Amino acid sequence: MFILESKDQLEKAIIKAKKIRTSVKFISFGVYSVKGTKGNFYRIECKKVGNEKQVICECLGASRGLVCWHSACALSLHVGLARQRQTA
Ligand SMILES: [Zn+2]
Repeated sequence: MFILESKDQLEKAIIKAKKIRTSVKFISFGVYSVKGTKGNFYRIECKKVGNEKQVICECLGASRGLVCWHSACALSLHVGLARQRQTA
């Protein structure tokens, strides 16, 4: 799990995500499934706890507090959906 503080954190992960071009599956608002490079799926949770934006991915990198590309994929979808919700 990591705390999202700025978009800069995601920069490298987004570059990697774009190279891999995986698919992100919507499960529910804040919960997504991203297909990994080995065909496996990672569950990513994006949630707001107080003022913190927590991103939880079940991969090894994220469990060490790193920003993984799975999270970057899920976040790009999540941010768009969150924006739609606010304007709806
Ligand atoms: Zn991950």
